[in-house]
Amino acid sequence: MDCIFCKIASGEIPSSMVYEDEKVAAFRDLSPVAPQHILVVPKKHYDSLEDIPMDEMDIISDIHRAIRKIAEQEGFNEDGYRIINNCGKNGGQEVPHIHYHLLAGKKLTKLVVD
Ligand code: 5GP
Ligand code: ZN
Repeated sequence: MDCIFCKIASGEIPSSMVYEDEKVAAFRDLSPVAPQHILVVPKKHYDSLEDIPMDEMDIISDIHRAIRKIAEQEGFNEDGYRIINNCGKNGGQEVPHIHYHLLAGKKLTKLVVD
């Protein structure tokens, strides 16, 4: 499958990888919108949250577990962070491989929806 995040997660395309385990990979966003902007993805391809079979939803726990580890590793666990998942067209998702935006490094403004 010709998917950019599959290629990054498998190491086929080089990226600034910050974390990797058996099921999850995390790398820096190409166009950061915060001092720290990391994308956390499952290594297995799913288009979006809506594409994950109910009996495979444990991957969401795996992603959140990885986020905790990354926050500790990168040192923003104490001051906090924001996680965003854009799901589908109306959610503003542009890359069709499920990913969580992990944003940190400053006090973010109240969530704005436009
Ligand atoms: P979405 O709008 O789908 O939630 O977010 C996609 C994100 O992927 C955007 O923040 C965009 O900057 C980032 N992005 C798109 N292409 C690449 C790429 O090739 N490499 C990396 N590291 N980030 C990318
Ligand atoms: Zn993919």
